[in-house]
Amino acid sequence: MPGRVIKVKREENLGILQRLYIPMIIKGLAVTTGHFFRNMKGFMTGNPTTFVVQYPEERVDYADAFRGMPVLVQLENGNPKCVACGLCEFACPTDCIGIVPGELPDRGIERYPEIFDIDMSRCMFCGLCEEACPEEAIVMSRETEICTYQRGSLIHHKEQLLVPENLLKRRLEFLRAEYDRQDQPPEDSD
Ligand code: SF4
Ligand code: SF4
Repeated sequence: MPGRVIKVKREENLGILQRLYIPMIIKGLAVTTGHFFRNMKGFMTGNPTTFVVQYPEERVDYADAFRGMPVLVQLENGNPKCVACGLCEFACPTDCIGIVPGELPDRGIERYPEIFDIDMSRCMFCGLCEEACPEEAIVMSRETEICTYQRGSLIHHKEQLLVPENLLKRRLEFLRAEYDRQDQPPEDSD
């Protein structure tokens, strides 16, 4: 939903005080001081005006629209839902997805990712891979913690990326509503 549009009126002929920025500096300090006392009062009276989370002991339940690290959807049989079509790889603006497809001759799904790597040090959590995927096989998770001492460990392999489908239900339902997708293909109108 678009935000509220605020039109900023700019003075064309600035006076000497405005050119020195003094009134604006004083105004800014007044606003900051006002917030300081308001928050201090709230703290002292037990009605906090600020929202504080004692991370990492406390966690926020992010909105379904939140985009964390991309993960692969894992089917009940343990296999990835991905059919190695490569669309996400193509859509990725940072070129951080690497897929090597393999063939499955004895199944309805003909291809699967033999290798599926995402370099999380380059991923910017944009979600374009998720949008491009025709199979709902790659989705944005709520995970954001990727601290490490070794850069190489930021390349997440298929086994690390797989997350059971039932744990991604909220995100999948959000996507279906967001993109007006149907769970089942529409019935033939003929
Ligand atoms: S979220 Fe964006 S940058 Fe990260 S893998 Fe997907 S498309 Fe690439
Ligand atoms: S777009 Fe989806 S199905 Fe295609 S390779 Fe990427 S994750 Fe797999």
